[in-house]
Amino acid sequence: MPELRRGPTSNRWVIVAPERAKRPSDFERKPAPASTEEKPGACPFCPGNEHLTPPEIYRIQGPDGWRVRVVPNKFPALQDYHELGRESVDGVFDRMHGVGAHEVILETPDHNCGLADMAEEQAKLVLDAYIARIQDLMKNPWFRYILLFKNHGKEAGASLAHPHSQIIATPIVPQEVRSSLQTARAYYRSKERCLFCDVMLGEIRSGERIVELVDGYVVSTPYASRFPFELVVYPRTHSHDFTTLSPEQRYGLARTLVRTLGRLKALLGDVPYNFVLKTTPNPVPRPGQPDYWSTLPYDYHWRIAILPRLTQVAGFEWGTGFYINPMPPEDAARYLREVKLPESCAS
Ligand SMILES: [Zn+2]
Ligand SMILES: [Zn+2]
Repeated sequence: MPELRRGPTSNRWVIVAPERAKRPSDFERKPAPASTEEKPGACPFCPGNEHLTPPEIYRIQGPDGWRVRVVPNKFPALQDYHELGRESVDGVFDRMHGVGAHEVILETPDHNCGLADMAEEQAKLVLDAYIARIQDLMKNPWFRYILLFKNHGKEAGASLAHPHSQIIATPIVPQEVRSSLQTARAYYRSKERCLFCDVMLGEIRSGERIVELVDGYVVSTPYASRFPFELVVYPRTHSHDFTTLSPEQRYGLARTLVRTLGRLKALLGDVPYNFVLKTTPNPVPRPGQPDYWSTLPYDYHWRIAILPRLTQVAGFEWGTGFYINPMPPEDAARYLREVKLPESCAS
């Protein structure tokens, strides 16, 4: 069973999930076997192979079959338990059960049509599924953060090529999120303005790192980008909660995501990337901190980070938390702006 452990000196929680790999041979370096999904008809996410996934949680049905499906991850990093099981082992080692949820969103029945090429209508259905699942998981007060992410390409962690994204609900607010929440709150307390709105305005005024301003969204390369062609998509209207998007705003975001990923693909080819949704934690009240999240609607701003995996995170980065980025974000934005956008898939 998965378990959460807190490093006593790093203060970082780690999920120990032995179900995902058991023997040293699982980690051995060997020539990559032809992956199953490359054999015709063997992809567990393709229509006709629904029996190869765990039982479905959610579906959007079209006239000729499903358009989007959500299933539990076959090898979950976290699972539903009846109790959190918080405890300390030998005084200093904190642990708890691996309480959570791990779901996979199958974005399309079309094996070969990823988000970068997708019809806007289909991408909007993907967003509908994201929102429906996040809203449902938020009902569980044990799930303090619902992380939605996408790994595209082997180097970015995707084990299957069929377009899919994932949701992991965790029983703690991850350190990365907590740190940005604290920065945003401190800024709001001193200025009574949203930090992210201010950053966005600064970017729009300077224009140097803007890739596109379209459909109510700002796409830019962050000022201190860690990776070449790193991107962030902000809604122009202040909102801390991604799940409150209206249908019209969802269409706008679908268009923006497809165009932005399309730009990356047109410029660099089918590069591996991760995308991560940063949105409000589950605002469940917690003992001893009754006002902990009370300023969130004012000081936090949801956004989507897109991180192409073109450089290695190596010793220096691990040792320091610094990143060395060989591509100035101003140049990256200019290259991306100048791209001619490709056509979408027919679906
Ligand atoms: Zn497939
Ligand atoms: Zn804002």
